[in-house]
Amino acid sequence: MSNTSANQLQDLQYFGEFGGVNPSVSDSSTYTFLNAKTMFDTFEGNTEGCYLYSRHSSPSNLYLGEALAALEGTETANVYASGMGAISSVIMQICDSGEHIVSSRTIYGGTYAFLKNFLKKFAIDTSFVDITDIVAVESAITSQTKMIYCEAVSNPLLEVADIKALAALAKKYNLPLVVDNTFSPLSIPAAQLGAEIIIHSLTKFINGSSDCVAGAVCGTTEFCLSLKDVNNGAGMLLGSTLDSLRAASILKNMRTLHIRIQKHSENALFLAQQFEADGFRVVYPGLASHSGHNIMKKQMNANYGFGGLMTLDVGSLENANAFMELMQTEKLGYLAVSLGFYKTLFSAPGTSTSSEIPEEEQLEMGLSNGLIRFSIGLDNDIERTYNKMKNCMAQLNIKPQIQIPV
Ligand SMILES: *Cc1c(COP(=O)(O)O)cnc(C)c1O
Repeated sequence: MSNTSANQLQDLQYFGEFGGVNPSVSDSSTYTFLNAKTMFDTFEGNTEGCYLYSRHSSPSNLYLGEALAALEGTETANVYASGMGAISSVIMQICDSGEHIVSSRTIYGGTYAFLKNFLKKFAIDTSFVDITDIVAVESAITSQTKMIYCEAVSNPLLEVADIKALAALAKKYNLPLVVDNTFSPLSIPAAQLGAEIIIHSLTKFINGSSDCVAGAVCGTTEFCLSLKDVNNGAGMLLGSTLDSLRAASILKNMRTLHIRIQKHSENALFLAQQFEADGFRVVYPGLASHSGHNIMKKQMNANYGFGGLMTLDVGSLENANAFMELMQTEKLGYLAVSLGFYKTLFSAPGTSTSSEIPEEEQLEMGLSNGLIRFSIGLDNDIERTYNKMKNCMAQLNIKPQIQIPV
């Protein structure tokens, strides 16, 4: 896979008022018109480049949208006030009541709750399937199915979707393949592999500063405009609008995305390899032991590695809790949900980000009690981090599951 996304991002160029090197921030909710006819035409959706009201669009949000379209290589992109705002808008735009979705069963907890619980209000039913089993995905499709939904690399077990195979299947049934690419920006070129709509929670790696919540939908001009339609657009009417000031700050953070992703991946690979060699059960797509390793290698952009997320099983929830508390005390990171920060973040998915998923379903998916999800930070010296983590384990008498013969 080529490096075009990062190059396209690099080539974006906007000047601010007075020749500023950053684009000006549109600090306005509403816009004046020089004549009444243009205002009417704008309401009707017949004027390109005219701004009406900032819930519809704003210059700062369009700049950020263009950067996201460059990242994913799609015609355009819309930005939202959160990842869930983007996800719910896409689903509500495409599905009417009585219709059906085929979704991966290992997805972000909020998306799972939205599909499983909230959409009951609209009698929209979802079949949750093992997304790595193409036969199972195909047999879940009914005459009412309106989309196939998955995460490129899933939360929290890091299952890797075969986007090319899923896109071919989606095409066969004339369905859109919707891919949440939050865990793997730059690494997995989802659109190039055939995904029609790509969603991001910008809250995570793309912004990378854990200082805001935001989301994006990348796709065709036609679909993104439909989301903004004043009469029928879910984005416009559900109102999950990103603030312009925040859009401007996210755009600035995107400039270092390529460097950050490389470092997150490098550090995570190092720790995953070390802990696996120590005999711990580690889930990381960069390990040959991972079930999605070969698919990931086939579809990834090798420059950006296998991503910053890994899970480590420390045997029990008690061990996990004690280990996370001690790591925080030892300044190894924060006991916090979310991902993509410069510090390592860790949490026990069963009691946090995946707690929406019932316990028996968690076990079926392989979410064991002692599992800790790590979003590995930008640590300067990852070997030092590893040694400090080993010290914490020794203090708590945490032992690997597998005894390595000496
Ligand atoms: C965080 C996350 C979301 C939701 O995004 P918000 O910005 O918190 O609304 C969706 N999908 C994935 C994979 C996530 O990690």
